[in-house]
Order: sequence, then structure tokens, then C-alpha cells
Amino acid sequence: MALVSLANVTRSYPPAVRGGEPVVAVDDVTLDIEAGDVYGVIGYSGAGKSTLVRLINALEPVTAGAVRIDGRELGALAERELREVRAGIGMIFQQFNLFEAKTVRANVAYPLKVAGWARADIRDRVDELLAFVGLVDKADAYPDQLSGGQKQRVGIARALATRPRILLADEATSALDPETTQEVLSLLKRVNEEQGVTMVVITHEMDVIQSIATKVAVMDGGRVIEAGDVYRVFSRPEHEASAKFVSTVVKGIPSPAELAVLRERHDGRIVTVSFRDGDASQARVFLDLAQAGLDFELVYGGINDIRGRAFGHLTLAVRGEDASVDTALAHLSTYVELSEAR
Ligand code: ADP
Ligand code: MG
Repeated sequence: MALVSLANVTRSYPPAVRGGEPVVAVDDVTLDIEAGDVYGVIGYSGAGKSTLVRLINALEPVTAGAVRIDGRELGALAERELREVRAGIGMIFQQFNLFEAKTVRANVAYPLKVAGWARADIRDRVDELLAFVGLVDKADAYPDQLSGGQKQRVGIARALATRPRILLADEATSALDPETTQEVLSLLKRVNEEQGVTMVVITHEMDVIQSIATKVAVMDGGRVIEAGDVYRVFSRPEHEASAKFVSTVVKGIPSPAELAVLRERHDGRIVTVSFRDGDASQARVFLDLAQAGLDFELVYGGINDIRGRAFGHLTLAVRGEDASVDTALAHLSTYVELSEAR
């Protein structure tokens, strides 16, 4: 059974103007998140990502469908049981949402106080958490004395205080510079690997997905248009919008402008071939082109690595009689993915 399960979930809001159309923020989403997943949810602003998080967190009711956490349908629970479910879910935010007037220690202690922990237990747990996020020396500092990355580490420590099984991160690195982003992402990776916390990572940044997610759902207009294994979605996106996201981070795919330059600089037909790991076709492509008597040149390319698995795209300028090139390309396309820029 999935830890978090969404079945045909829709959330709509009343029309913004009287007599207008209701806003369907989340539209018929079905998604299973297994224990141990780092599930990335990507989409442009307005795609419905934050709404999805609020539905998982039971902060808002669904309009239709069902959200289940550990098999318990949220819509069927009484307020007391809902509080119990919420206590098992931690959350971190883009703007950190720390108490500015409290010290780091008091911020992290806050959820434990609310949960009624004894003072000595709170102290021990906070020490443990500050050590885990590397902020022991900042225990008595106030948020405005911290860098963005340090603030988010406090946010993570606070979210983990009551030992939730699920951590929701809504654009948790979007306010950080690239270097700090990587620092926070590697901390989140440790939270998943060392503490076994299941994570839902909402972002509009594809490189966040690439660094830590194991699975990804692509949202567009409230719908999940594509979901699955990160390697699969990155190396073989099925939907046009996913392909567009992927092309922003994947190496080796020439942009239309780059293709125009390639066409201008090189004679012959400009052909991009895509390779995936476990696929022995790379040498075969070169061999087949040579055997067909064609002249070719490697003009663009890149290899990507997702958790140790490679895939790449190579662009060639292929020269020869048009008919021979056609025959050769038709043959190649029987065993590799191939596209030609015209
Ligand atoms: P994202 O996080 O992907 O940017 P949101 O979930 O915030 O997207 O928003 C999805 C859509 O739902 C947007 O069109 C937004 O304006 C609308 N929306 C979100 N929350 C509300 C609300 N409380 N009331 C009305 N419309 C909302
Ligand atoms: Mg959002």
C-alpha cells in the first residue's frame, strides 16, 4: 500500500469574479507515493503544486476524489484524527517561516512544546537535530543573523522535530543561490537516506529534481501529465511539456537557435541521436554510417548522469548522396531514437 495515495483528486475554488468559471487548481490527479520515495513534483507557476501539497497535508479538503495517508482517507477523519495525521507530516517552505523573535533553539523546540514533550526531552532532541543539520554553534542566534541556507536548515530541523514519516518541501530552495541550494538538497537527501523520511519535493526547478528525486510527476494546468521514474522521464519524456522542462537541464539537446548555427556551419544533414544506458547502439551507429560510405562529423552532444545511470544526445552532420543518407537514417531509426533538424 502506498504511503500517500491520491485517487482522482480535484480541488476547485469559487470563481474569482461573480458569474465566472471556478478555478480548478488540481484536476483529477491520481498518484501513489511509496514509503522511502523522494517524489518530485514539477510544473510552472500556477500548475497546482502548492494546492496539491495542502491537500496532502490535510490543510484543505478535496472537492472530489480521495487522499489517503497510510490507508486512512483524510476526508473521513474527525478533527482529532486529522491532527494525528498532520503530526506525522513535516513541512518546509520557500520563505522558511521561522519565528523571527525566537532563537534557533526555540524555533526547533516549538513543535515539541506544542506536542507536550517534557523539557529535558526537548533539550536532548533539539541538540540532536542541531547536530544533524550542522547548526550547533547557532543555537542562540536569531533568524536574521543567519544566511538563507542556515535558515532553511533550521526549517528542516524544526520540521523533523517530532519525527514525521513524511516531509513536504514547497519550493524549499527557490529563494537560495545555486551553491546553497545544493547544500540544502544534500541535507534533504540525508534526511531521506539516514532517517527513512518519505519526501514530496515541489519545485519549478528541474535541477532540484535531477539532484534528489527518485520519481517525478509533471503538473500542467492542475493535471499530472506525466509521472514515473526520474531516469525514464529525463531520458524519454513522453509529453511535450515534460520534454520542455527536461531540455532545460539535460545536456546534449541543441536548442532551435543552436541548431540554426549548426546548419549554417556544417554541410550535410544535421541529425541528433539519443542513447540510453544498457543500449549498445552508439558504436553501431558510427559503424553503420561508415559502412554506408557516408562521411560524418560529431558537431554537438552531451552525456547525463542520473543516480549513476547515463543517457545522452549526440548531433552529427552526415554527408553523402541524399538517397544513401535517407536509407542509412531509416536503418538507424530501427534501433535508436533519431531526429533530424530541417
Ligand atoms: P503552483 O504552486 O503550482 O504555482 P497553486 O497551487 O498555487 O500553483 O495554484 C494553482 C491555481 O489555483 C492558480 O490558478 C491559483 O491562482 C489558484 N488558487 C490557488 N489557491 C487558491 C485559493 N485559495 N483561492 C482561489 N484560487 C486559488
Ligand atoms: Mg506554489
